[in-house]
Amino acid sequence: MTKEQPNFDAYAFSKAPDFDEPSVRRAFSEAVPLRTVVVYCFDPRAVDIPKAVAREFGEVYPGEIRVDAAGNKVASSTTLFEVVVAGGRAVDALRSVTVAQHLFGVENIVVVHHTHCGATSFTPDGIIEACKHEHGRDIAGAYDRSSIAISDYAESLKYDVGLMRDSVGTPPHVNIYGYVFDIDSGELTRVVTDRAPARKGAVADPVAGG
Ligand SMILES: [Zn+2]
Repeated sequence: MTKEQPNFDAYAFSKAPDFDEPSVRRAFSEAVPLRTVVVYCFDPRAVDIPKAVAREFGEVYPGEIRVDAAGNKVASSTTLFEVVVAGGRAVDALRSVTVAQHLFGVENIVVVHHTHCGATSFTPDGIIEACKHEHGRDIAGAYDRSSIAISDYAESLKYDVGLMRDSVGTPPHVNIYGYVFDIDSGELTRVVTDRAPARKGAVADPVAGG
């Protein structure tokens, strides 16, 4: 027997009768003191990357979830958000960075590629051919070729930091870094540094809404 579905709309901020978008946005930024977004691979062996990045940047991670008097989870003390994608390639993180900035504000974006990554085990041609034969699908035009696999760590990090910097949805004030993480030793090595250009005049409040 199927249970009647609850009214999921009741859980959507934007469906609340008194919804006011700027107020909700302000509340989000006060609930989570986000500073740094880390982009890394979904390889289970890469799970220690956010901890290593938190140490490197002095971030609070995983932090603690804060609960209100009614027992609702309403906030967190973490200052580090994770975007976990194949190979840790920046292409899959662009939209998440825009959203993270909109709701919480971001200062640093850290792209991390790791040693012995599965993304180094195939080539763009290889995966395109395999998709053709195995699924009858041509993905040749679906993805930016330079973002599909990794053949040279320094090159792919340079590419990803540039892609993130040039993305129209990346806020101009962020610093962007590229690191290689050694999954055996846990060592993090910085390969690319792209600090934000010096800002002219007063710094805008990211939450003020214009
Ligand atoms: Zn990987």
